[in-house]
Amino acid sequence: MQTTLVNNHVSAYLDEIYDSVVKRDPNEVEFHQAVAAFLQSILPLLEKEPHYIEKGILKQIVEPERVITFRVTWVDDNGETQVNRGYRVQFNSAIGPFKGGLRFHPTVNQSIVKFLGFEQTFKNALTGQPIGGGKGGSDFDPKGKSDMEIMRFCQSYMTELAKHIGPDVDIPAGDIGVGAREIGYMFGQYKRIRGAYEAGVLTGKGQEYGGSLARKEATGYGTIYFLNEMLKDNKIPLNRSTVIVSGSGNVSIYAMEKAIEFGAKVVACSDSSGYIYNEKGIDIETVKQIKEIEKGRIQDYLKKYPETTYKEDCSGIWSVPCDVALPCATQNELDEESAKQLVKNGVKAVAEGANMPSTPEAIEVFLKNNILFGPAKATNAGGVAVSQLEMAQNSMRLKWSFEEVDEKLQEIMKNIYKNCRSSVDEFYNATNLIQGANIASFKKVADAMIAQGVI
Ligand code: NDP
Repeated sequence: MQTTLVNNHVSAYLDEIYDSVVKRDPNEVEFHQAVAAFLQSILPLLEKEPHYIEKGILKQIVEPERVITFRVTWVDDNGETQVNRGYRVQFNSAIGPFKGGLRFHPTVNQSIVKFLGFEQTFKNALTGQPIGGGKGGSDFDPKGKSDMEIMRFCQSYMTELAKHIGPDVDIPAGDIGVGAREIGYMFGQYKRIRGAYEAGVLTGKGQEYGGSLARKEATGYGTIYFLNEMLKDNKIPLNRSTVIVSGSGNVSIYAMEKAIEFGAKVVACSDSSGYIYNEKGIDIETVKQIKEIEKGRIQDYLKKYPETTYKEDCSGIWSVPCDVALPCATQNELDEESAKQLVKNGVKAVAEGANMPSTPEAIEVFLKNNILFGPAKATNAGGVAVSQLEMAQNSMRLKWSFEEVDEKLQEIMKNIYKNCRSSVDEFYNATNLIQGANIASFKKVADAMIAQGVI
């Protein structure tokens, strides 16, 4: 691991921690990447407050409390038995029950769910709500599956997962490949197994059975609320900005919608096959129709707007000139070359809607060039924040209006920005918010762990 103060004893200690993580699970590269970036950024805090090292907190914080893997067997429409692997990583419950999404995608493995669970722990702490961190999923690929196959898979997955979760234990939600439909099937199966209506066991539920208004919009909207705070602080008007957004899934769609509502012009978005560009601006209602209702490809946008450019190279989106870039698709989608291209084209701000979408080299390019940078665990925390509001509504057995939830979301995102900003001011006096997010969240989790003793 590269740290800035190589001869410093704190730095040497961090290297030791990092090496032990790599030694324990040598193949988990995404997890190593997340841990390395995190440890580097909290170095100034540890120099100032060495008791975190003396209490052995770092050794504990990089090791999940529990990792569960299991077989998920189901029968496809041809009557053939299929086998997938299911995961749930219960990373840290110092400040509340484990909470984090489920991802169904062929790339899911233990490294991916561990990195996501690790990041989730600190993201959840940043929201100021009492929720610990977890993540899960499966290497199941929902693409091309029939509705009945999805249902059978979800039921089988939940049959095992139900043994490990509960409204006060671990509360999963959606992520890539897991939307309202999948949450519905899993909730139904959980209810059947438990014989009780424990509404607070999953979030992202449908409106008819305990879901919160504004949950669907929360991650994308929250990203824009955070972005707006960051831009305002630096006197850059969002309403005169040109924006590009990677992906066209849940986070991307609602980030685009809110950016447009703020008066920005969104000129490009993508899916895993390619990207579209229209200098006059993207029509968000058409994107919603294609991706949410028809479950089609982003290329279908050209049927209605044939003058739009489509290129079969999703990373090509980063060559589109813009003021603001929002990576909202997946991890490591924005690399060093793409970052250089964005900088060359005059990008002023980057805010991460997806989890760890920028590679460490790309972040380095942004920071060196003084580009405003909103890190994922702060920028995209709006989703989990509203999930927690869904849990609160379930406990109270009442339902808030869209406006009430949205107002709370805006307040939470403003506070996250403020907390990150003040940690940066205290420790760095710099413009980047990565350290701010990591230090503020680490302190919260670590203090709770110390208070609870060595467990
Ligand atoms: P979805 O499955 O709804 O959407 C993902 C989108 O990204 C799809 O449009 C997909 O295209 C596209 N995509 C995948 N890989 C690439 C790529 N390499 N280049 C361009 N596009 C790509 O997922 P979400 O929107 O829910 O999640 C997106 C990210 O946000 C993930 O990192 C997730 O962990 C994170 N996140 C999500 C939250 C939520 O509330 N949903 C909360 C916090 C973080 P295709 O249709 O072709 O697969």
